[in-house]
Amino acid sequence: MAMTDVVRADEVGRLSICADDTCGGVVVDLSRSRSRRFCRTACGNRVSAATHRARRSG
Ligand SMILES: [Zn+2]
Repeated sequence: MAMTDVVRADEVGRLSICADDTCGGVVVDLSRSRSRRFCRTACGNRVSAATHRARRSG
């Protein structure tokens, strides 16, 4: 594999889709831990609230 391919693969690895299904935004994770799951904080809050509701009802 050429060096350019390695760099490209690394950049793609930093791109993912927002964990909020209703959002579908693109998450660009530039953190070293790559733990980012939402495109913005509001999405994380929305999902955690929905999870909380589901737990209480189910
Ligand atoms: Zn989002």
